[in-house]
Amino acid sequence: MNENRRARLDSYFDALTVLSDGNYVFLTDMVTGCSRWSKSAVDYFGLPGEYMDNAAETWEEHIHPDDREVYAESIKAIFNGESDSHLMQYRAKSCSGNYVVCTCKGVIMKNENDEPEFFGGSIRNHGQLSYTDTVTGLRSMYGFIDDVKVICWKKQVSSIIFLGSNGFSEINDMYGYNFGNTVLRELSNVLIRMFGEKCSVYKIDGPKFAVVTTELSPEELEECYRKVKLMVTQSFYVEGEKIILTISGGMITLDNFSLSTDTIVSCLKYAYHESRERKLGELYVFKNNINDDSRHYIEKINTIRSAVTEGCRGFFLCYQPIINAENEQLRGMEALLRWKNDEYGMVPPNEFIPVLEQDAIFPKLGNWILYRAMTDGKRIIEKYPDFIVNVNISYAQLQHKSFLTNLFQMIENIGFPAKNLCLELTERCRLLDIELLKSMFSLIKDNGIKVALDDFGTGFSSIGVLRVLDVDTIKVDREYVKDITKSSVDQKTVMCISNLAGAFSADICAEGVETSEMRDILRDYNVGSYQGYYYSKPLVFEEFMKKYVNGK
Ligand code: C2E
Ligand code: CA
Ligand code: CA
Repeated sequence: MNENRRARLDSYFDALTVLSDGNYVFLTDMVTGCSRWSKSAVDYFGLPGEYMDNAAETWEEHIHPDDREVYAESIKAIFNGESDSHLMQYRAKSCSGNYVVCTCKGVIMKNENDEPEFFGGSIRNHGQLSYTDTVTGLRSMYGFIDDVKVICWKKQVSSIIFLGSNGFSEINDMYGYNFGNTVLRELSNVLIRMFGEKCSVYKIDGPKFAVVTTELSPEELEECYRKVKLMVTQSFYVEGEKIILTISGGMITLDNFSLSTDTIVSCLKYAYHESRERKLGELYVFKNNINDDSRHYIEKINTIRSAVTEGCRGFFLCYQPIINAENEQLRGMEALLRWKNDEYGMVPPNEFIPVLEQDAIFPKLGNWILYRAMTDGKRIIEKYPDFIVNVNISYAQLQHKSFLTNLFQMIENIGFPAKNLCLELTERCRLLDIELLKSMFSLIKDNGIKVALDDFGTGFSSIGVLRVLDVDTIKVDREYVKDITKSSVDQKTVMCISNLAGAFSADICAEGVETSEMRDILRDYNVGSYQGYYYSKPLVFEEFMKKYVNGK
């Protein structure tokens, strides 16, 4: 039997090799556990042999520690049937000890009974990690990460800025890619000159740079940033052409040396994003708007981040009822995330979600939230078949390629009725490319899942989204509800939102209803459902069940 299988492994392996276009090939027989790998991969990476019995674990040992978790998860999903294919990039260690960047593609091949039989694919070796950016000659993101690790190890206080040019693609479009590269080179020269000898400048991804200093004070670094910003908008010339660049920047100061570089990068990305989206490029210093001091805050983020990687330890969901305005009966519930540990106590989601949203690990937490909410919700739906479970979906989740596949798979695994799920698009989601949103939402709606626009009226324009997405519910932000009994402006705003919703055949849910007076006014504006402390604060699941389901 095994000989027979070995012969099949070999013949499929040969076929894959013909198609592999010079990439390494691997093939695992999922029945026997035996794998075969290209001889060239065996030699290059120093693997035990062409045939291996536990190739996935052996290969994992060659993968860079920072990339290992994502790899292990992807492999786990393949082997436990959650996923049919994988496409990922990671760093792998060659036999000489250098890391090379690899792109790995793998697919499951099924037998006639639709059971997974082989897992095979190819690995492309992109060569050694490049510590130098080829366009500017500056050190790259990898160099940046290594240098920050050294600074932390030496326990040096440092300040770091991520800065980037907004709308750089327009320069590429207008003047061509080559000229775009020249602009980046010139910009790098400006940065080196203006930040000076006491700073190191790196070219990270896209038109983004990092500046690191252990010698300038945060105030001095801020001052340099302001000068650079002024200079590139007013007197920046490239090949005699005046170029107007608008830049944004986020800064942190590190005086805690136990933070992971992932946390540092997440916080910098968050700060950069805030500067770009909300501050018109003014330097955003992480976290000068939170009352506790920034060091404490970053430590907290670091702890919460590790909690996600450790199986979402300390996270739990609370549920707030959503009440039908017509009959004051329970219509559904919104899942709200909480995190708690001994050191920090209960941390509200607004403190960590916006930062972790910039982080590659967020989708993992997002999946955990969906899984928990649907598993809990299913118990209520068994009794109330029309009960709706609202789950907040963030920017980073939607951006993730496998979001929809995971979601549909999860719905199926849990046996959750898709029509009872409502995805709340939080405000930042609306920053995503509208075409991407459109194509995702047609799939979501085709599957019967409902969509709500959260925090309507705040931040970014939401009307454009209404035009292209078939939204079921608009949630009026608490901001417009909290003074509704006194403020005629707020009353008019809610009325307008209500008319708008009517025009798009969407329902209205008012958030933050705290008193019966508020509810009575809202009733006049065709609000379909209410949510707020007047009915109930968010409750842990057991309490929710006691109060609304079992107690009835
Ligand atoms: P949100 O989606 O707008 O959630 C409503 C927030 O209003 C909740 O705060 C809720 O506890 C609070 N709230 C509800 N009724 C009242 C009221 O009558 N008065 C007042 N003062 N507040 C009320 P919470 O739980 O702190 O969540 C804050 C935000 O964090 C959420 O705003 C949402 O944007 C985000 N968030 C929470 N859970 C998740 C999650 O699982 N995923 C994502 N992506 N975001 C989440
Ligand atoms: Ca919400
Ligand atoms: Ca909201």
